[in-house]
Amino acid sequence: QFLRRRGLPEKRKIRDVNKVIAVSSAKGGVGKSTIAVNLALALARRGIRTGILDTDIFGPSIPTLLNLSGEPRLDENNCLVPLTNYGLKSMSMGYLLPTLDNPSSDPSEPPPMDTTPISWRGLMVTKAMHQLLHSVSWGHLDVLIMDLPPGTGDVQLTINQEIVVDGAIIVSTPQDIALRDAVRGFGMFQKMDIPVLGMVRNMAFFACPHCGMQTRIFCHSHDDSPDQGVVAQCRRLGIEFLGDIPLDARVCEDADRGVPTVVSEESDDSSARRNAFLQIA
Ligand code: ADP
Repeated sequence: QFLRRRGLPEKRKIRDVNKVIAVSSAKGGVGKSTIAVNLALALARRGIRTGILDTDIFGPSIPTLLNLSGEPRLDENNCLVPLTNYGLKSMSMGYLLPTLDNPSSDPSEPPPMDTTPISWRGLMVTKAMHQLLHSVSWGHLDVLIMDLPPGTGDVQLTINQEIVVDGAIIVSTPQDIALRDAVRGFGMFQKMDIPVLGMVRNMAFFACPHCGMQTRIFCHSHDDSPDQGVVAQCRRLGIEFLGDIPLDARVCEDADRGVPTVVSEESDDSSARRNAFLQIA
């Protein structure tokens, strides 16, 4: 009512979805999508009916991560039917706006020039975003993981204002610069009254595949100190530290070939990288 009085749309629950969990990062490239997709697959492996919604407009990566492409069909109610792989339902801006994503499946082909006027692109994006949020036929889902675009800008605010988000997970690397932005992200969720479930520290250490030695590449000595680093910041903000994901070339290889680590046949159940995702989920 308060929002309506102020002319803002009331938050809506996504139809047929029990809980929506947003995965966010204040910076791009910290591994937000990799973590979102692996957490979603880890939940699906446990028999939890899970879907993933990729709302990253200008850099949607879920199609690549799940090795999926093509335009989704519409059902009898004009709702988009999710594309599924590895038992995980997915919907992405990348399926709806092929020209804004990588349109060519042949990497030797130059991308076609997008001559759509900016104002039209803006309209297309708004329409597509609306469709993603309100017109996807998810079926019954226990959990929908929402991969938010990086940052704390308009798109994130619109999503958080329009949709009931039950909880948020923040992804950070150990670097001070990423962490400072992650704290800003925490502030955004707080302002929107969205509970922050905790923070994941990605690329926490490099585990050498040859000798097994662990090297903390992105933080120096401070990350274990009582008043600096991700763990200390979580304590200060009063949120849970959810765990570490190692910097591991195979996590990146798995992502590139569209077989995320949690479902990759190359990481067996004893692999540290797979277990890191499973434990956080
Ligand atoms: P974001 O969604 O934050 O932009 P991505 O998930 O797209 O980040 O990850 C950025 C790049 O880093 C990708 O190439 C991904 O494969 C790689 N990456 C992410 N996490 C790890 C990790 N723990 N170890 C190795 N590479 C990683």
